[in-house]
Amino acid sequence: MISALFVLTVAAGGFFAREFGLALAAEMIIAIVLGISSPKPRAFCSGLCPRGRALGFALRPISLGKTLPRMFSSRAFRRFLCGTSMFLVVMSLFQVRPGVAVAEWAGMVFWTLCLITLSLGIVLGIVFKPRTWCAVCPLGTLQDTIREGRSRQALSSPSGTP
Ligand code: SF4
Repeated sequence: MISALFVLTVAAGGFFAREFGLALAAEMIIAIVLGISSPKPRAFCSGLCPRGRALGFALRPISLGKTLPRMFSSRAFRRFLCGTSMFLVVMSLFQVRPGVAVAEWAGMVFWTLCLITLSLGIVLGIVFKPRTWCAVCPLGTLQDTIREGRSRQALSSPSGTP
C-alpha cells in the first residue's frame, strides 16, 4: 500500500510541480548503481521498486490474468523498448527550453515518462497478469543487461573475477 501511495503521489504531484518526476530519475540511478554493485539479479526490483509492488497490489483484484504473448517478453523486444525509451529520454533532456529551469525540465521529462509507462503498466496489468509490466519494463531490462555485461566481464578476466 505504501508503494501504491508513493506511485500515486509522484504521478499526481507532477501535475502541480514537475519536479516530482525527478523521483523516477532517482529510481533509475539507484537501479543502475545496484545493478553494477549488487550480487543479486534485479536487486532494485526485488528490494526497492515501488511500481512493481504497487501494480501487484492494486491490480490483483481486477486483473483478467491472461498470458502475455511470448513475443513481448522476448529479449529482442525488451531491448528494443529499453533502448528506444532511453534514447527518447536523453534526447528530450537536451531539448530544454530557454527560461525553464533544468530541474523543472528534467522533472517534466521523467514525469511524462512516468505517466506513459504507468498507464501502459495499468493496461497490461488489467488485461494480463498484474505485474506484466515487469516483463517488459526498461529498468528491469537495463538491470539484466548490466548483469549480463558483468558476467561476461567476469568470464573473460584471467582470474575469473571482474
Ligand atoms: S521490472 Fe521495472 S517495474 Fe518491475 S519491479 Fe523492476 S524496475 Fe520495478
